[in-house]
Amino acid sequence: MIIGTHMSVAKGLEEAAKNTVWMNANTMQIFSRNPRGSTYKAYSEKEVDAFLTIRKEHEFGPILAHAPYTMNLASAKPEVYEFACTVIREDIQRMDELSIENIVFHPGSHTGIGVEAGIENIINGLNQAITGEENIMVLLETMSGKGTEIGSTFEELKAIRDGVTHKEKIGICLDTCHVFAAGYDIVNHLDEVLEKFDDILGLELLRAIHLNDSMMPFASKKDRHATIGDGEIGFDALLHVLTHEKLRHLPFYLETPLDDAGHKEEIAKIRKNIES
Ligand SMILES: [Zn+2]
Repeated sequence: MIIGTHMSVAKGLEEAAKNTVWMNANTMQIFSRNPRGSTYKAYSEKEVDAFLTIRKEHEFGPILAHAPYTMNLASAKPEVYEFACTVIREDIQRMDELSIENIVFHPGSHTGIGVEAGIENIINGLNQAITGEENIMVLLETMSGKGTEIGSTFEELKAIRDGVTHKEKIGICLDTCHVFAAGYDIVNHLDEVLEKFDDILGLELLRAIHLNDSMMPFASKKDRHATIGDGEIGFDALLHVLTHEKLRHLPFYLETPLDDAGHKEEIAKIRKNIES
């Protein structure tokens, strides 16, 4: 099992990697820059070397970088759009240089211009960012569909990917909380949801899972993460996702509302239930 948690941006790379080992985890998610702002800290060579050494020694699985929540690549507002284009272009490059395997971003909200126009903006934004020379994969996240959010259906994610010139660089990160809130019943019909994913996108595009429970009910189109077992999805259904034969090889990242000690316990609880 490849499992880890998201790490606060304040930690930096080396501390995040050490913390991952301490948690008995074997991967991690980091933010590519300040998640609610625009700034990033340049990592020193020493810090990058330490990070690379720890991840190698402890045989981490693929590491996931998460782009900031503040970027909206679907926006029709020039200043918002330009900012999003710059962030995704810079962060694909920066994370690729760190040998990070995947970077995920929220496709964006169309805020009134319509899904089609929003998708066109996302495609153009990705096309100015992806050169095709990168090793890193760019993952579209499945969204809950709150407000005018794009990416809450597999069809919308496919439409984005289909428009990208280097679409071989585009994969998907499935968030269990978001798909449940979007109306995909992973509790009672996981096999059918995966079949649908396979028909529309292809399961080979699935590169990562955000493993979260949901505070909000099924198909609520609301995005509120709960700790594993304390939400509407429940522990058994999430365990089923983790151990499913079509999913269990993937890296799983917890984004649950807990501190480091809480995440360590959450991972221990998951491991105990899987191994027993
Ligand atoms: Zn996300």
